[in-house]
Amino acid sequence: MKTTLIIGAGGVGRVVTHKCVMNSDVFGKIVLASRSIGRCQEIKSELPDANLEITTVDADDTEALIKLIEEIKADIVINVALPYQDLTIMDACIATKTPYLDTANYEHPDEAKFEYKLQWERDIAFKEAGVMGLLGSGFDPGVTNVFCAYAQKHYFDEIHTIDILDCNAGDHGYAFATNFNPEINLREVSANGRYWEDGKWITTEPMEVKMVWDYPEVGEKDSYLLYHEEMESLVKHIKGLKRIRFFMTFGESYLTHMKCLENVGMLGIKPVMHNGQEIVPMEFLKTLLPDPASLGPRTKGKTNIGIVAEGIKDGKKRKIYIYQVSDHEKCYAEVKSQAVSYTTGVPAMIGAKLMLEGKWSANGVYNMEEFDPDLFMEELNTQGLPWKIKEL
Ligand code: NDP
Repeated sequence: MKTTLIIGAGGVGRVVTHKCVMNSDVFGKIVLASRSIGRCQEIKSELPDANLEITTVDADDTEALIKLIEEIKADIVINVALPYQDLTIMDACIATKTPYLDTANYEHPDEAKFEYKLQWERDIAFKEAGVMGLLGSGFDPGVTNVFCAYAQKHYFDEIHTIDILDCNAGDHGYAFATNFNPEINLREVSANGRYWEDGKWITTEPMEVKMVWDYPEVGEKDSYLLYHEEMESLVKHIKGLKRIRFFMTFGESYLTHMKCLENVGMLGIKPVMHNGQEIVPMEFLKTLLPDPASLGPRTKGKTNIGIVAEGIKDGKKRKIYIYQVSDHEKCYAEVKSQAVSYTTGVPAMIGAKLMLEGKWSANGVYNMEEFDPDLFMEELNTQGLPWKIKEL
């Protein structure tokens, strides 16, 4: 029987644990480890009959991770802690020769910059250890990369442009809250925008480029250009690509709150002195904001995330839209998490399932679009994230 180690018991960790339990013929014994035991206990109480053990681990400490992986003889590590822990967990996987999967690329806590460089650099060590590391197996990155690979395989000879379109039309009733870890979320959306065209990265001011897109089953929404990590690997792997952009929807209220918080310095990630004590404004803000996990029972509405690809097939121009719609309330009814965590956790489970089954298999560090997309697309349909394709 296999042993699966899940690290991180947040919103995404809850979904991954529920979904691995639903597929326990593949995942076998599941060990959920996180910084604090409270969330692990909550998740365990939701799954009383499961072959699920819980424990604590400090995922910043490679030695502690090595000890845990060896103790439980993990066959795979699913990292759904924070992007800050990617490297320590990857290093523990290299040392113990254990396959690794994550959903977000490495960020240093003191610098709001994310890139694959340090993770890709571990490719040789993974190859030497004879194991696979799968990067970014969430929704975006993750499913969006698989959508691009599927479009490339079945619909185009050459893809010229890709727009990744991420809409969350959920309403949680709070004036301001983030749907996943506030620190990671606010760092991402307050950064400069960036897109790739004709071989170059072009930087924009935060929220400078806006378009209105009509999202199926949701309607028209203001969508803003952001930098998003999957573009870094897609420009390497999609043939003939001339431009790739990423857009995310934001409502007026969210943007006004964010601007105000930014103007008063609450999005700062450098420590400031307060009453003789150092505090990091963004971390303090995280303490004040609603816990994303608490949004689950109160969020209504849908998400729609997809890609629009344009290019050439058999000498003719073609444009297609591949997208997935999830309903916050339905996700909560199934796994006690809203759709943002659900749409991340399900692909993490699917990636790990394909790895454990040996269907996605290679030594080294890989991004999602480097594997055959068909198996993943089939799993999406059966594991709770059915998708659609439209010719535009
Ligand atoms: P949460 O903040 O809800 O959960 C993170 C969990 O990791 C918490 O349980 C936290 O423990 C635990 N953790 C943090 N630091 C450590 C540590 N040093 N050691 C052990 N455990 C630790 O985040 P989410 O669940 O929302 O997000 C999880 C991951 O998913 C993030 O990396 C995020 O960027 C990514 N993500 C990816 C998306 C995609 O589509 N690809 C979309 C959304 C998220 P504690 O409870 O003690 O704080």
